[in-house]
Amino acid sequence: MSRRIEAVIFDFDDTLIDWSAVGESFEVVVRPHLDKLRTHLVQLGHPVPAGDHFAATYRQIIISAWDRAKKTWRSVRFDNCLHELFTRSGLDAAAIDLDAAMRAYDWRPIPNVVLYDDTLTVLQTLRRQNYKLGLVTNSMLPMWMRDIELEAYGLLPLFDARLTSGDAGYIKPHTAIYERILDLLETSAERAVFVGDRPQNDIAGANASGLTSVLMDPPHLNHKLDDVQPDYTITQLSELLPLLAELECRDRDRV
Ligand SMILES: [Mg+2]
Repeated sequence: MSRRIEAVIFDFDDTLIDWSAVGESFEVVVRPHLDKLRTHLVQLGHPVPAGDHFAATYRQIIISAWDRAKKTWRSVRFDNCLHELFTRSGLDAAAIDLDAAMRAYDWRPIPNVVLYDDTLTVLQTLRRQNYKLGLVTNSMLPMWMRDIELEAYGLLPLFDARLTSGDAGYIKPHTAIYERILDLLETSAERAVFVGDRPQNDIAGANASGLTSVLMDPPHLNHKLDDVQPDYTITQLSELLPLLAELECRDRDRV
């Protein structure tokens, strides 16, 4: 008998990895990489402003880019932000190799951001059970940069398809990004479950796209539901395993 649910798609930050020890601090998360990028540009002879000024400009660019994205659901792209940073810093942006700049940024797992205790076990179990696994993150970074993190956490080989909003052109909750990952996984909304921690984008988008939605709601998060209603709520990933089994039984009973 074939199963109804054949794919499980995850958000990344705070769904598979735990940010509770860090918070989204610019100084911790972004600044060390920006300093590496600045050093790279200085070594190439570009007249880069001082570190604090360079960082403040970048921060402003990112904040306004995400403000715009939240109104239009068109994604923010890291390469575009860097191009704007170079221009606004008075540099000759056309003379800077963006790919080399992104490599010099040297993206890595964030210190003290860790896997939840059960992340690896749950993903490995789902794979053994022959579910297709996908990942969709609202990240301006291209997937190859977030892959550096997935690889470091040992998660990279577990996914059949992965997508950042920067690459997809849209952010969650726009339905286009869900359609894209379903295409990549060669499945349909009715046969897929989406697991994410943010009601307003992960869950609202999954609901609008017709996927079964599961809110990941661990104790350290306090996201408001407002008018968004997830199909299911879990507080740790291991609760997914009995939930998926229950979904199959329920459908079998219905038939
Ligand atoms: Mg998240």
